[in-house]
Amino acid sequence: MTAWVYGLVDMQSFYASVEAASRPEFAALRRPDDDSTDPPLIVAGDPERRSGIVLAATPPAKAAGVSTAMNLGEALRKCPEAVVVRPRMGLYLETSVRIHHTVRRMFPLHEPFSVDEAFFAFPYPSVLFPDPVAAAQTLKETIWDLFRIRCRVGLAPNKWLAKMANRRAKKEPRGIVWWTEEDIPTQLHPLPVYEMWGLKRRAEILDREFGAKTIGDVAAIPEWRLRQRFGAWGTVIHRWSRGRDDSPMDPDAFAAPNKGFSHRITLPRDFFNREEIAVVMLELLDEVCARLRRAGQRGRRVGLSLTYAGFGGGFSRAKTLPHSFNAAEDFYPHVLRLLDRWWDGSGVRAVSVAVDLLEAESDTVQLSFFEDGEKRRRLSEVYDQVRARFGETSLMRAASLLPAGQLRDRSRKIGGHFM
Ligand SMILES: [Mg+2]
Repeated sequence: MTAWVYGLVDMQSFYASVEAASRPEFAALRRPDDDSTDPPLIVAGDPERRSGIVLAATPPAKAAGVSTAMNLGEALRKCPEAVVVRPRMGLYLETSVRIHHTVRRMFPLHEPFSVDEAFFAFPYPSVLFPDPVAAAQTLKETIWDLFRIRCRVGLAPNKWLAKMANRRAKKEPRGIVWWTEEDIPTQLHPLPVYEMWGLKRRAEILDREFGAKTIGDVAAIPEWRLRQRFGAWGTVIHRWSRGRDDSPMDPDAFAAPNKGFSHRITLPRDFFNREEIAVVMLELLDEVCARLRRAGQRGRRVGLSLTYAGFGGGFSRAKTLPHSFNAAEDFYPHVLRLLDRWWDGSGVRAVSVAVDLLEAESDTVQLSFFEDGEKRRRLSEVYDQVRARFGETSLMRAASLLPAGQLRDRSRKIGGHFM
């Protein structure tokens, strides 16, 4: 019987690799099968200020102790010979869109998953794809040939397992791992519960309250107990722990009409002060509204979510307005009211602002970046994901909003990064 193999391909050190690949002085030395041939290179917001933070680093820089989100000063102490470059988000986004096209050309059933990750699927066994590992190898080689970027591929009977296999592939020299049903007890179950993708805080609850140390331990918990503790999520956890997942491929994930715009920030420390939180909220709202306007949309509902420190929870509340807007000033009083009504004074770890119930702004002619509307929508999704990934950096700026220099820089940055 023909089944399906699902793949997840993930670019290695994406932004840093794009930079290394685009510089002729490094290009000739780099080898596809040896990441130590990369230059020690760091992409950092604002290299002039040593307070900038590391957004990406090549494998040799990482081997020297540099890690993402590290302060640049500290990174340079660990790797003094590193080349430090400013992020070029425009180049990364363009490369991302081109990589997604490449994956789709090889695997017609394809789903962009993030800026540098894509799911794909193919029937197996089949004439076109007789050997899944060889197909993954061809994909890797194609991406290297076209973009000079290394990638890793996880293959499995479903998307969730493909994601898990992809993580294991990082430890494999050839960067490809194929798991079948038979690998679930031997490969999946021994992994620590914290490696279960998609659980976030729930993994800690599984560990603390159920004593589950490994994914196999989770698989042994009766489903009804998981449902008792996690509600509908209990069933999902139960299925995942047994290596099952029936989420479908969504090839239109990027082309879908905008359902809403949101922006979230994880704070560098817990915020207890209303004014500080209010400043962050305004920053977020500014970003969300700028994107609404670029997309030619207005929204009628505004939402605020706060995540409290520790396991304290938080809240997510929204207010529907009589008219639609796309300016921060129009939404701001309403999110402030949500804050005052629902915030219990707990330390705040993360803040998210969202606008949805969208309507097209039909009576205004929009200046758009791209003539092609579909391309624009697709890019705006990629763009959202870049922002999701770089929330922390955006916040560094928000938290130090007051110094005038920071404010002046803002207009030149996207998501806290230079274009
Ligand atoms: Mg990656």
